[in-house]
Amino acid sequence: MSEKKIPYKIYLNENEMPKAWYNLRADMKNKPAPLLNPATHEPMTAEELSGVFCADLVAQELNDTTPYFDIPEDIRNFYKMYRPSPLVRAYCLEEKLGTPAKIYYKFEGNNTSGSHKLNSAIAQAYYAKKQGLKGVTTETGAGQWGTALSMACSYFDLDCKVYMVKCSYEQKPFRREVMRTYGASVTPSPSMETEVGKKILAEHPGTTGSLGCAISEAVEKAVTSDGYRYVLGSVLNQVLLHQSVIGLETKIALDKYGIKPDIIIGCAGGGSNLGGLIAPFMGEKLRGEADYRIIAVEPASCPSLTRGVYAYDFCDTGMVCPLAKMYTLGCDFIPSANHAGGLRYHGMSSTLSQLYDDGLMEATSVKQTDVFEAAEYFARVEGILPAPESSHAIRVAIDEALKCKETGEEKTIVFGLTGTGYFDMVAYEKFHDGAMSDYIPTDEELAQYAAKLPKID
Ligand SMILES: *Cc1c(COP(=O)(O)O)cnc(C)c1O
Repeated sequence: MSEKKIPYKIYLNENEMPKAWYNLRADMKNKPAPLLNPATHEPMTAEELSGVFCADLVAQELNDTTPYFDIPEDIRNFYKMYRPSPLVRAYCLEEKLGTPAKIYYKFEGNNTSGSHKLNSAIAQAYYAKKQGLKGVTTETGAGQWGTALSMACSYFDLDCKVYMVKCSYEQKPFRREVMRTYGASVTPSPSMETEVGKKILAEHPGTTGSLGCAISEAVEKAVTSDGYRYVLGSVLNQVLLHQSVIGLETKIALDKYGIKPDIIIGCAGGGSNLGGLIAPFMGEKLRGEADYRIIAVEPASCPSLTRGVYAYDFCDTGMVCPLAKMYTLGCDFIPSANHAGGLRYHGMSSTLSQLYDDGLMEATSVKQTDVFEAAEYFARVEGILPAPESSHAIRVAIDEALKCKETGEEKTIVFGLTGTGYFDMVAYEKFHDGAMSDYIPTDEELAQYAAKLPKID
């Protein structure tokens, strides 16, 4: 092995860290479609949205022309506690695979929440505090978002009320306790605390809940409680804006060494880490300054981009949220019970949906047994125990690197390693015991959900 000119980890010093978030929408010719009022089907106004979300976040949500938003100093200081996150050259993985490809990953798991979600949680808590609110409500599925938000709220002394999908609440008691350690209250959803929860329980007794259902409960709680607003950890434009810190740091680090990626890969649930990672690169692509292959990776059991419909849909099961135009499987879609890999949301960020529809990025889906195989391989070679979500990106990065091995091409691959998997050991256990199976929905099943999409003209 020759001398390694690129360090194993490329860090930035504090002065090199981004001082503004980048709003990708400013450079999009075809803007993402606006959120619609579910009753009137008219675009949501700032006034309507500000009943649900904090005022500054509403402004960010609706702004698709301003390219940069300064990161307030309080947030930059919080970022300094766990950022910049390292950009790692995966020398060990390259060697093990025997590929001429150069592989880099941006590791977002170096904080207690264990994922990139803290990047937006701290921003959303900051604006809630600035507005003088008492607290915020939210939902959490696997628990990463709830954990990140709990940390952010405790930093700014805000009350944090989390509706946690019931099956996760029961299966992941440790996540729940981490949230409570940071002072959050955690309620299994559906619950009897909200009208929508009661209604869902009456219609589906014994249901173990879903993200869409927990969102409905959290929104209802926020709009009916004085001094509270609702916050969401993915999907929304404002979340992609905050997560652009991932891509901006990545680009600064790569530029330091004159490295230009050929392929950028990220897992896609609601689209926030991918939207953040690709932001400055996609910006260059939109402005005609550079070209990159950008690949979104989703689970075969929840394939919104690869098999969904591009249409207006509800963001939640209770249909209390605005309508968003997105690639969607239908708001009633719930991935099969054996799906353990996260990324369970039925729709995709409307920004990413539009970019995908315009042919500016690719999407692919992977089976969960292949995902866990890649996760375990990566853990053994690179040392980090990856989150199942992140492992979707690992799978495709490895596959692309193996293609380079066949063709001899020295491509540069960058992927997002969004988090660690310590709370997902039950899923790892299933994989190790050979008890993990793959379930891929049939066309007929997907068509049933698609037929129920709201009709908007
Ligand atoms: C939430 C989460 C994701 C998926 O969410 P996106 O909004 O699509 O980024 C991916 N990885 C980890 C570790 C997560 O916690």
